[in-house]
Amino acid sequence: MPPPSWASSVRRSARTPGWRDLPLRRLLGERLDGVPVALGHDVRTGGLAEGRIGAGRGADRFLFVALGTGIAGAIGIDGTVEAGAHGFAGEIGHVVVRPGGAPCPCGQRGCLERFASAAAVSAAWARASGNPEADGADCARAVAAGDARAAAVWQEAVDALADGLVTALTLLDPGVLVVGGGLAEAGETLFAPLRTALEQRVTFQKLPPLVPAALGDTAGCLGAGLLAWDLLETDITVRSEVTT
Ligand SMILES: [Zn+2]
Repeated sequence: MPPPSWASSVRRSARTPGWRDLPLRRLLGERLDGVPVALGHDVRTGGLAEGRIGAGRGADRFLFVALGTGIAGAIGIDGTVEAGAHGFAGEIGHVVVRPGGAPCPCGQRGCLERFASAAAVSAAWARASGNPEADGADCARAVAAGDARAAAVWQEAVDALADGLVTALTLLDPGVLVVGGGLAEAGETLFAPLRTALEQRVTFQKLPPLVPAALGDTAGCLGAGLLAWDLLETDITVRSEVTT
């Protein structure tokens, strides 16, 4: 059997309607005449790379959180990423931080990603600035330039993010907290107020170093390479699984 951080199938994907419980790994293996295939969730695969060769390198326990169109995370333990019993571990974007708040496509209300994803900040800044084309990067630039409206939008996202991250710190006690994705490209415009917001919230929890992701857009590809690399060591086992 593959390690638990590897996926075997696509359970559900909003981007690919009809791909439900699709045994993609087995199908690809069969189509490739038994060549071993590794399959991973994009953010958790990126988190694997950040943990082994990126910003979390050397930490035996880390949490990677990507702030993109949505928000997802990867729980790193001893060089692997914890997938959970059903493949959903790390979905910090759907931790409810504002009960009864904005509805989320996942079916809940008030999920973190409705407030602190790059898409959420883009939408909030487009509304506040009156420019439908404005996005999260524009908001970050306006914050750095001292725009009070942008600062209010930004702080709302930072506060929601800190609330979600403190929940994660309380449960996981990571050694390093790695934050990446489009919104993290704002650098200290994000990290400085986020550190402050986290410091204001923690009581008994140990606040780990908060660091930006190091691998950027290549993290997912590098992580996929690492999954394949790992597969070489279990080649024989996986071959027999794929062909039976
Ligand atoms: Zn949700």
